[in-house]
Amino acid sequence: MNELNLKNKVAVITGGAGIICSAMARSLAVHGVKTVILDLNKDAATSVAKQIEKEYTTSSIGVSANVLDKASLQSAMNIIHEQFGTIDILVNGAGGNSPAATTKVEKMDGSESENPEETFFGLRIEEFEKVFDLNFKGTLIPSMVFATDMVRNKSGVIINISSMNSFRPLTKIPAYSSAKAAVNNFTQWLAVHLAKTGIRVNAIAPGFLLTNQNRFLLIDEQTGAYTQRGKKIINGTPMERYCLPEELTGTLIYLASDLSKFVTGVVIPVDGGFSAYSGV
Ligand code: NAD
Repeated sequence: MNELNLKNKVAVITGGAGIICSAMARSLAVHGVKTVILDLNKDAATSVAKQIEKEYTTSSIGVSANVLDKASLQSAMNIIHEQFGTIDILVNGAGGNSPAATTKVEKMDGSESENPEETFFGLRIEEFEKVFDLNFKGTLIPSMVFATDMVRNKSGVIINISSMNSFRPLTKIPAYSSAKAAVNNFTQWLAVHLAKTGIRVNAIAPGFLLTNQNRFLLIDEQTGAYTQRGKKIINGTPMERYCLPEELTGTLIYLASDLSKFVTGVVIPVDGGFSAYSGV
């Protein structure tokens, strides 16, 4: 019995050219899933798809689309239909933080010499919106577009990529934290809404990986050593290290496959114990 039931399924991985999601796409390809690497960056998406075809002899294509633009996702869906057929699995991975939506200080001290520009009061609404929208609407809109196939087929899986920030916000990054909290809430909402259609909706909340979006906060550009924040994360992670992208893929395969047939509406932490640890 093939208890995974993944072979020849079609998966769209948004942000598929990125560090985490390219590893996720590879792990699906290992199980015979045809992967669509959907990304704003067409060249990077095509390059990941080519590597996957070479390494795993499973079909993969790179498709350029913006997760915030419904029309571009619909065009992407037409290409996917022509090349692979209908969509079975959606991984909503496009997301990330930006320095422009990050406060300079962790906590205000309330003194007269304090520069408000470095605090909550200096955040630019447009920059806040960009990060919030990418992470939240960038999950909502692709679900709206690609789940239409799943409703017709009475079967499908949506996996959202959340974060540890969704449970308890980290300092400095309120747009990213609130958007990921919204992703968790939406995961539960959509799971209930679609529960009778044969579609399951779940999320993975990774702990901390060193990637492009957070390197500026965790590594000192000059010395290459961990910043205070980078060290704090290791101290707050009982396993005392950062997560590797490949360490998220076991949970992805579990959620994408029939192993989790009766699981919907959950957010699974993969965090080296971070969310369990009080720090004492
Ligand atoms: P990454 O920056 O390596 O990859 C993100 C990819 O998304 C890039 O290839 C980028 O081109 C693409 N992208 C950006 N905007 C897009 C848009 N509008 N439309 C389509 N594609 C777009 O990021 P990553 O670190 O691999 O993160 C992947 C996911 O994991 C994100 O949702 C992130 O929030 C989440 N996450 C990351 C960490 C971490 O420590 N890095 C921790 C928890 C969760």
